Amino acid sequence: MAERISGKTQLIGLLGTPISHSLSPKMHNEAFAKLGLDYVYLAFDVGNEQLEDVIKGYRALGVRGSNVTMPNKVLVKKYLDKLSPAAELAGAVNTIVNDDGVLTGHITDGTGYMRALVEANVDIIGKKMTIAGAGGAATAICIQAALDGVKEISIFNKKDAFFDRAEQTVQDINAKTDCKAQLFDLDDVDALRAEIADSVIFTNATSIGMKPYVGQSVVPDASYLRPDLIVSDVVYIPTKSHLLGMAEGVGCETINGLGMMLWQGAKAFEIWTGEEMPVDYIKELLF
Ligand code: NAD
Repeated sequence: MAERISGKTQLIGLLGTPISHSLSPKMHNEAFAKLGLDYVYLAFDVGNEQLEDVIKGYRALGVRGSNVTMPNKVLVKKYLDKLSPAAELAGAVNTIVNDDGVLTGHITDGTGYMRALVEANVDIIGKKMTIAGAGGAATAICIQAALDGVKEISIFNKKDAFFDRAEQTVQDINAKTDCKAQLFDLDDVDALRAEIADSVIFTNATSIGMKPYVGQSVVPDASYLRPDLIVSDVVYIPTKSHLLGMAEGVGCETINGLGMMLWQGAKAFEIWTGEEMPVDYIKELLF
């Protein structure tokens, strides 16, 4: 690393809390080193309170870019100059690029998720998806899935602050794409059973399954699943969430959040550096 840092090294940050578990610093720093690119990627434990100051600091320092994660993905929009069309639609940002002082917010979670499905040879285009979640990750996935041609999306969320936002997402999808979206209360377990029953894929895009919710699942029990259902989880720590363990037991094909992590990162890497991430190399190193 010492040999890599020069007077011209550009900084890429990661803003979130908690953050020390993140795989992103290793992924990006290994990719920079492999391609001989003069960048360094550092994680900063930053929550909503410090966010405005940090973005001001980014401007003052001329930082090249950043990833943004929980709980900052929605709030950060407010401090940026521009949003990509996908970030605008999703109402969330996970990647910032600084082009000569102009800070643009992008969201690469949705394309990352869809790419991970393609890499797993799973085709959901023209088919129905049921998804739990209405936060940054879930919204990005729903928007991208609708834009890519998924025919129907049933969204379940608990009645928290994210629920109202999901109503807007459903309106946007129905108004701006050919996909039919519907919103349900996650507590309505009969609706959950019915919607999963004619879907090809069920996706957990909530925080349930990761710390502090390890061992929990948004699907109450295995009777909601069937062997030809694909079950995917955005959670990747643990790599096998309680939901995926349950789905494996039923005989479902399962996909964890590692692929999404990799491909959302690869897209962000390209936005900052203009280079393709050496994905196979990174996959071997990290997974
Ligand atoms: P967010 O804070 O924007 O959204 C949180 C979501 O979880 C909301 O839908 C909320 O309603 C739901 N939720 C929270 N507590 C709940 C509870 N007790 N019961 C039911 N639902 C609950 O967060 P986000 O950025 O959308 O992240 C959500 C998950 O996605 C996290 O686990 C995160 O690690 C993961 N994620 C993974 C990747 C990846 O690349 N694999 C990328 C982004 C996010």
